[in-house]
Amino acid sequence: MTALPPGSTIGILGSGQLGRMIAIAAAQLGYRAHVYAPETGPANDVCPVFTRGAYDDDQALATFARAVDVVTYEFENVAAPPIARLAEQVPVRPSVRSLEVAQDRVAEKRFVETLGGRPAPWKPVADRATLDGAIAAIGTPAILKTTRFGYDGKGQARLSSPADADAAWQAIGGGPAVLEGFVPFDHEFSILLVRAPDGVSVGYPPPHNVHKNGILDTSTLPAPAPVAAQWTEAAALAGRVADALDHVGVLTLEFFVGADGPVFNEMAPRVHNSGHWSIEGAETSQFENHVRAICGLPLGPTRLTGREVRMTNLIGDDAARWADHVADPGLHLHLYGKHEARAGRKMGHWTRVLRD
Ligand code: AMP
Repeated sequence: MTALPPGSTIGILGSGQLGRMIAIAAAQLGYRAHVYAPETGPANDVCPVFTRGAYDDDQALATFARAVDVVTYEFENVAAPPIARLAEQVPVRPSVRSLEVAQDRVAEKRFVETLGGRPAPWKPVADRATLDGAIAAIGTPAILKTTRFGYDGKGQARLSSPADADAAWQAIGGGPAVLEGFVPFDHEFSILLVRAPDGVSVGYPPPHNVHKNGILDTSTLPAPAPVAAQWTEAAALAGRVADALDHVGVLTLEFFVGADGPVFNEMAPRVHNSGHWSIEGAETSQFENHVRAICGLPLGPTRLTGREVRMTNLIGDDAARWADHVADPGLHLHLYGKHEARAGRKMGHWTRVLRD
């Protein structure tokens, strides 16, 4: 494809912090951004052009399509059919296929399995009665997860024993769901790659991710030896997934370090929180490379800019200490402009790059 010239407009579905950071990267390369979302959010602070609309409003989406040159999305929890209709009017990158696979845990696991990936043992759970059979097959401890619309540990419940079935079923609000065996892991990591329309892709070194209460807390690079030992296999799987989907843009796969190889957890067809370190910690950030990919520009190098990089999320009240963070000359502080510091809400992050 020919590259979109500077001055072209990138449409972004979603007004959150990921959209905000995509819009900032777009501006750096001379592109305009136009955010489409049902409500305003962090992206609106950096993007003057906004359409308020529902993600299934065909008419509003058609008007949006006429105003932009390419469309991308910052999250996958949108119904696919209206986006498929949008894609008939303007290029949508990554494609609707990436969206469909990644927004459904059953489709995602099956897809990754066909490409040689290994998730934790799992069973689809259509209703409460099926859950008992799934528990008998998988055993406990286990995790019950809604098939769709889960994020940051929401829509998940842990079962320590079969007696927890009713409580878990209620906690996730009833099916459809998947039951996963609990993986007794010591390390979690993610693979972020970016793929261009011509199929060229580049990968980032894998961050070692630590979660607290189901929400990402820190990402650190270089990852420790147990992660490094599984990098090649995990990155190869991510490459096969990206090729099979003809994915364009950033693709993220999350893994546990398993006893005999990487255990696939889940994927996101987009820029990812575990890649925020790349803004200062990589030669080209995930956001810039996403913009490069969807606009048909050459991809940028992904090497670390220092010997160690650490990203820490600011969740809820953590952001109250922003003045301390901004006063620390070694920290790069990012605040997302959210007004209400609700518990569990991602308010910002900081990154420290150790150079010597
Ligand atoms: P998810 O939203 O599926 O990424 O889950 C959020 C976090 O919960 C993961 O990053 C893990 O820390 C934990 N988790 C999810 N699934 C499992 C599992 N099958 N075994 C152990 N921990 C898990």
